[in-house]
Amino acid sequence: MAVDYQSLAVKGVQALSPYQPGKPIEELARELGLNPAEIIKLASNENPLGPSETALAAARKALEELCLYPDGNGFDLKQALANRFGVAMNQITLGNGSNDVLEVITRCFADTDSEVVFSQYAFAVYPLVTQAIGAKGVSVPAKDWGHDLDAMAAAVTERTKLVFVANPNNPTGTVHTADAIQAFLDRIPEQVLVVLDEAYCEYLTGDEFPDGIQLLDRYPNLIVCRTFSKAWGLAALRVGYSISSAAIADVLNRVRQPFNVDSIALAAATAVLGDEVYLNRSREVNAAGLRQLAEGFDRMGLPYIPSAGNFIAVEVGEQAAGIYQSLLAHGVIVRPVAGYGMPGHLRVSVGLPEENERFLDALAQSLVAAGQGG
Ligand SMILES: *Cc1c(COP(=O)(O)O)cnc(C)c1O
Repeated sequence: MAVDYQSLAVKGVQALSPYQPGKPIEELARELGLNPAEIIKLASNENPLGPSETALAAARKALEELCLYPDGNGFDLKQALANRFGVAMNQITLGNGSNDVLEVITRCFADTDSEVVFSQYAFAVYPLVTQAIGAKGVSVPAKDWGHDLDAMAAAVTERTKLVFVANPNNPTGTVHTADAIQAFLDRIPEQVLVVLDEAYCEYLTGDEFPDGIQLLDRYPNLIVCRTFSKAWGLAALRVGYSISSAAIADVLNRVRQPFNVDSIALAAATAVLGDEVYLNRSREVNAAGLRQLAEGFDRMGLPYIPSAGNFIAVEVGEQAAGIYQSLLAHGVIVRPVAGYGMPGHLRVSVGLPEENERFLDALAQSLVAAGQGG
């Protein structure tokens, strides 16, 4: 009798649907017979500036040593991070993207008896890794598209091992102030770990927003996750990290793959941390792009969720799926968020000024074609 190998997978994995990434440019080019150079991708919150020259030079140099295993402890990168943030090297855990760290955290601290709390409309990786290990995900209804921190604190039970908070959150762009985050942390029992995912923190301006790393002394149950994929412009290389107490980092470092960050990624990330000019340009281009997109949406009368990230979720209504397709036909890739329970929204990443303009034009035309715009 034929074996149903899918039924052999552990229960959590059987019920899993894979993460839906933004559509790659080459794929759309193949499907529509378009020239890849004419397609713009505003679908994965990538840095529109392209990589920093500093990072590129370091990556090229690292290519010379492709035959060697990377430094499994990531000494240089940890040292650079420790200097930048005033933490000890043994508080840092490196990951193959911060997604890797998020998964390692979940595997280390939760199992099939555990509950893991996150918000409705929060980053898809939290429910995904929770489900994969067979823990119970507790999705707390959002408030104004953002995390309802009071309700999340109230959702913690004796079984709760982890709480995920994305600040700012993806795909909504919502953000909480330092006061709100601290009031929340004050309510979480010390044996429950809080993962503060700060993938977009480099874009935050204003003293009212928290710097998770500054909170570590006060909250030993806190793990702060960050990434080189967004403002630092290194999404292809897959490098992220967490900063926590040394005790928590020790646990995470037992479970992560020994060579989970490759040499090229280590070299480029270490180098780019010194490139303040690049970081500042990333911030400026992003702030201007957010304004440009918001003004465009205002002109079209489209509601959107004010965003603190490098993307905006805009509400185009029940024809969102059709408008997504129509944008593709214009060579513009954005991200549908129906999988997040937001079927009327599309998420668009901030591009260069001319890319934002092209997206807004294509959107206006798509709305007219759908009988919605005027
Ligand atoms: C993009 C993103 C990440 C980072 O992903 P990497 O694996 O580091 O590329 C983490 N959390 C959120 C909320 C994100 O949007």
